[in-house]
Amino acid sequence: MSLPQFKLLRPRTLDEAVSLMAKHNDRVTAHAVRIVAGGTDLIPSMRQKLFEPGYVLDLRHIAELNGIRQQGSEVQIGALTSLTTIEHSDLLRRRYPVLTEAAATVASPLLRNMGTIGGNICLDTRCLWYNQSLTWRKGCGFCIKKDGNLCHVAPGGTKCWAAFSGDTPPALLCLNAEIEIASASGLRRMPLRDFYTNDGIAYRNLQPSEIVTRVFLPESSADYRGVYRKLRVRGSIDYPLAGVAVVMKRSNGNIADARVAITAVNPAPFLVKGASELLAGKAIDEILAEAVGNLAAKTAKPLTTSALTPEYRREMIRVFTKRAILQAASEQN
Ligand SMILES: Cc1cc2nc3c(=O)[nH]c(=O)nc-3n(C[C@H](O)[C@H](O)[C@H](O)COP(=O)(O)OP(=O)(O)OC[C@H]3O[C@@H](n4cnc5c(N)ncnc54)[C@H](O)[C@@H]3O)c2cc1C
Ligand code: SF4
Repeated sequence: MSLPQFKLLRPRTLDEAVSLMAKHNDRVTAHAVRIVAGGTDLIPSMRQKLFEPGYVLDLRHIAELNGIRQQGSEVQIGALTSLTTIEHSDLLRRRYPVLTEAAATVASPLLRNMGTIGGNICLDTRCLWYNQSLTWRKGCGFCIKKDGNLCHVAPGGTKCWAAFSGDTPPALLCLNAEIEIASASGLRRMPLRDFYTNDGIAYRNLQPSEIVTRVFLPESSADYRGVYRKLRVRGSIDYPLAGVAVVMKRSNGNIADARVAITAVNPAPFLVKGASELLAGKAIDEILAEAVGNLAAKTAKPLTTSALTPEYRREMIRVFTKRAILQAASEQN
């Protein structure tokens, strides 16, 4: 499958990047420019003609967007930082282990060398009926997400249920991470939990001319024990079909604070509502871990967007949550 024709833009600074985005991305031709970071998701999607932008803006020469640094009380991660760098960062492994664990499960070592944290956060949603070649999609009459007017997964509805399938966002949600977004009008910052919309098409709160530039991890989330569990078809290289992140801090044998987040079972990754309250102040046992697993399974609303059945993916959210909580509790100092 060949790539569609496009012009490549290669800014050297963030200022140059935002002005190129503003110049080429006017209101009439929204998404005339697509950002490429590692390209591990965008390039296959362009080959499948899911995106046919006039311009591709390559972030890779913007040095200021690369690297992990302690800045005051928080840790900053540049959007261009590779998943391999995150996986092997001593600072992150020591203070935010759930993130290094989640990053280490993405795809394969080669794809983690190329793939970036910004690309992982901004990843397009996925569906059996969408991530296919143009010929395949044409044969099925397309669908609402691209070029068609019906949803094969939930016929009769008008919403797209394609699943958000990134591995690091649930870990980042558990860590109360924030992101920085740049545009020609300046910088804005938002909690990652406000970035996702739970709509399979307009899945993120990002204007066409905006660029995600940094991720911030607060000191208040440091030193939590973390566990990430993921279901995939091929253990060596695959997107999650269900994923659970858990962070936990204990005090005097009880849970002082804990958070649980899930991915790949809804159009957005979610913090599981009520999980922190259920766990706070308690000692972990099988019954409590099971109750949180049930809560996570209720939050999961998978549909037939992947090769595995929705029932199985939902059940694995329950099982993984229970196991992750028991493991996080057993590994506390
Ligand atoms: C075989 C295979 C297996 C994979 N398995 C997994 C997996 O297990 N888990 C997983 O999470 N991912 C998986 N991926 C997807 C991908 O490799 C990762 O998600 C990776 O982190 C994407 O980062 P990237 O830099 O390559 O993104 P790109 O492909 O460059 O971009 C991805 C999307 O984000 C946008 N984007 C990128 N950076 C920014 C930015 N800074 N600001 C705004 N928008 C931006 C792009 O326009 C594009 O829409 C897999 C991919 C393949 C091909
Ligand atoms: S959920 Fe429906 S609209 Fe969305 S990609 Fe799948 S088939 Fe298309």
